[in-house]
Amino acid sequence: MTPNADPLAALTGQEHAVSRLNAIAHDPPQSIVIEGGDADSRVALALYWAMRLNCASGDIPCGQCPACKQIADFAFNDLLFFDGREGLIKVQPSGTCEEPGDSPLMATASGSPSFPKPRCS
Ligand SMILES: [Zn+2]
Repeated sequence: MTPNADPLAALTGQEHAVSRLNAIAHDPPQSIVIEGGDADSRVALALYWAMRLNCASGDIPCGQCPACKQIADFAFNDLLFFDGREGLIKVQPSGTCEEPGDSPLMATASGSPSFPKPRCS
């Protein structure tokens, strides 16, 4: 995605996913995992979802209200955007686990979020 590009342009061809998001918007879950498609499509769906829940029009995102514009600019105060393409999300390789005595909280020099290793059982 290029800067200043329409962040929802990649929704083209994702009508089924948009329809599913609209169907659950009346009682939104605490979290949603968006998978499949390409990265731009997933980002567009995530931004659509944020707009859908925060748009001042109260329904399908208008793209013009302050909330929609701030979300499109990644400047909305309640939007925390973590893009795995930029190395901001650390993924623990499967099959590895924490040894007893390891700290469950890990800090990184970059300040990026890091999740604890799964415990061996
Ligand atoms: Zn709006």
